[in-house]
Amino acid sequence: MPIRLLDATIAAQIAAGEVVERPASVIKELVENALDAGASRITIEVRGGGLRELKVQDDGCGIASHEVELAFERHATSKLQVADDLFNIRTLGFRGEALPSIASVAQLVCITRNANEEVGTELRIAGGDLQARVPCGCSPGTSISVRNLFYNLPVRREYLRSEATELSAISAVVQQYALAYPEVRFSMILDGRLALQTSGDGDRRSVLIEIYGLDIARQLLPVEAEVGEDLQAVRVSGLISPPELTRSSRSYIHVFVNRRALQPRGPLVAVVEDAYHTMLMKGRHPLVALDIRVHPTAVDVNVHPTKSEVKFRFGPQVHSAIGRAVREALVAGAGIPDWADTN
Ligand code: ADP
Ligand code: MG
Repeated sequence: MPIRLLDATIAAQIAAGEVVERPASVIKELVENALDAGASRITIEVRGGGLRELKVQDDGCGIASHEVELAFERHATSKLQVADDLFNIRTLGFRGEALPSIASVAQLVCITRNANEEVGTELRIAGGDLQARVPCGCSPGTSISVRNLFYNLPVRREYLRSEATELSAISAVVQQYALAYPEVRFSMILDGRLALQTSGDGDRRSVLIEIYGLDIARQLLPVEAEVGEDLQAVRVSGLISPPELTRSSRSYIHVFVNRRALQPRGPLVAVVEDAYHTMLMKGRHPLVALDIRVHPTAVDVNVHPTKSEVKFRFGPQVHSAIGRAVREALVAGAGIPDWADTN
């Protein structure tokens, strides 16, 4: 057969396979876009396990009317300008793949208004084809509704697990971002039920109260450390469980690097667990919400399509900073009395 260029729709569907695996991956991409847009409130609504409808609404910067179609083109992004930017990333997105990918495998409605403009724009796209564009009255920000995900890829739809499984994957994603961005007010409505509501007051412990309850959240120990300078500076902050408070899975370990959630099995999670040393029983894992910040040029986030793995330029320094910070928090939390207490 002759060599031909793929037509745009097929190319987008193939790319979508990488980015959009399941409803939770759509939520991840849309929430990341809302966060990159500087939203202070994000509402996530899910119907029918995410296959019937997923909607993410934010009060962020919105998309300028003349750029709305462009946002749905492949490789169109406002987040990278020059090649060097790729090694100095300050946003969650940068590949310009999410919106076109999602739009190619669903029926999508985007309602958006840039704060500098009087009217908003409503765009309707189905299976990658533009159906309608109309001006609309709406408040500044963006709302993206994704209906009938994979309606045009029945095989992909069949691979999905039960509605309950998809809902719990969606919850996990939203919880991650709520923990990484305690200053943002998240609301998650699953099949009409308010499943998570954070205050947006900036306190990570208050998010943990919403997710795990007061009893667990109040036992967590604060971690706070800053080491190194300039490019090698590492800041570690967050909350970790004392050794006696554990779980049988690693899904309670949340590690963020420059506000990006990492894979629960990655090397940084191992560093955190190693810091507990022999204090954890075999098969038990701590509850952790750790926020790690390094210089944006000291980390490569472009190693995985879903960006859930990173590479550090100064890996050993980062690892030792984390290990030390966790150990210090554990020692402080063990209630070793200081001499003033013994008087
Ligand atoms: P990326 O996030 O990698 O840039 P996307 O396909 O996710 O790519 O989005 C394309 C562009 O559309 C973004 O760069 C941004 O300019 C714009 N955009 C997407 N979602 C939003 C949103 N919720 N608010 C404002 N702008 C958005
Ligand atoms: Mg994006």
